Amino acid sequence: MASRKLEDLAPLFRARVAEWLADCHAESLEVLVYCTYRSHNEQADLYKIGRTVKGAGVTKTRPMGRKVTNAKPGQSAHQYGLAIDFVPMKNGKAMWGDAKAYDAAIALALERGMESLRPYELAHLQVAGFNWREHARKSA
Ligand SMILES: [Zn+2]
Repeated sequence: MASRKLEDLAPLFRARVAEWLADCHAESLEVLVYCTYRSHNEQADLYKIGRTVKGAGVTKTRPMGRKVTNAKPGQSAHQYGLAIDFVPMKNGKAMWGDAKAYDAAIALALERGMESLRPYELAHLQVAGFNWREHARKSA
């Protein structure tokens, strides 16, 4: 299972996420971080969805369904503790379709030195300027 613990993030990024969570709280924006760290194998499994493993949203023109990531194993900021996935919450319910709440939370994240992958991965925030090649080399 991928982690949702903030403790599994890289320390500097974790500090930014903590500031962002405080900002959200101050604006009465409730958010849930549901993914932080992901292993190489977990990323490999996600990459298969919509490609070699059937995903959600199957149509005639999209027989394998929707892809959920463009990052191959080694290429995701989650593998280096430099990304989170989140969902806005209201009264304890996840608001996956609440574009306004996502916009507001993302705007606060940008001010804290994070970048968004919207519209492709709306839930995803990562450290600004993330370059997987640099990190893959360091951890090799
Ligand atoms: Zn993500």
